[in-house]
Amino acid sequence: MNESSLKKHLAKFNLGGLRYFDSVGSTNDEALAWAASGAKDFSLVVADEQTQGRGRLDRKWFTPKGSAIAMSLILRPSAPMRPHLSRTVGLAALSLADACLRLCLSPKIKWPNDILLDGKKTAGILVETVWSGYEADSLVIGMGINVETESVPPSESLKFPATSLEGMLGSSLKREEVISLVLSAVIKWREQIGSDGFIKAWEDQLAFRGEAVQIQSGAESSIYGVVDGLESDGSLRLRDEHDKSVVVRFGDVSLRPAA
Ligand code: ADP
Repeated sequence: MNESSLKKHLAKFNLGGLRYFDSVGSTNDEALAWAASGAKDFSLVVADEQTQGRGRLDRKWFTPKGSAIAMSLILRPSAPMRPHLSRTVGLAALSLADACLRLCLSPKIKWPNDILLDGKKTAGILVETVWSGYEADSLVIGMGINVETESVPPSESLKFPATSLEGMLGSSLKREEVISLVLSAVIKWREQIGSDGFIKAWEDQLAFRGEAVQIQSGAESSIYGVVDGLESDGSLRLRDEHDKSVVVRFGDVSLRPAA
């Protein structure tokens, strides 16, 4: 992937702008700064390598050179999208899942922000917001996607197993084509973000649905329950041991299969 091959593949999209880096600290940091200085809707930052890729809190996201996708898409929320901003991580997850489906893979969404193939993490999402007072001025949707097998971090450095698109497909892929599939899906799902069908589609692809999981939240003790579905704002609904609903809101929570 290089700037000119990327531009060629993305020419069909009405991008607000495109910034390509051979190497960058974090595409989300670039996109947040660009958004704060007036980037147009649907502007995109792509890097061949991230040296300071971020997960949530202080966790790191690995994007080694030449094998993965690090991209951050800037959205300026339209009036119909505004009441549903808490669904933005779902927009990203459904779009990544759609791209996998188009490649004939079988994705699952590990709520809130990871895409699994065969139970292994293949892509991660980090949504961040640029505020203007109490209003969201722009949303930055960061996505890290493991494309080639070389992009998968060594297993001893991970808490959750990981894989790559090519590892699962058994054939090679152009990263530009994967980006194009993801953007097409964002355009489609963004139109539907306020609909009940959006939540239903998100829910239908949840990993561990009907299975027992534990939710870890910082230093607090874990919550255990069976994955039931999603609330209308995208929060996760579990059933506890007394068959009572427990709602888990976004934040720094990590979902794992129950031990
Ligand atoms: P968690 O999945 O633990 O809730 P995050 O969603 O914030 O946490 O993701 C960050 C975590 O993902 C890192 O701590 C690391 O274990 C893992 N990770 C980092 N880079 C990759 C990658 N390229 N592929 C798969 N997993 C990764």
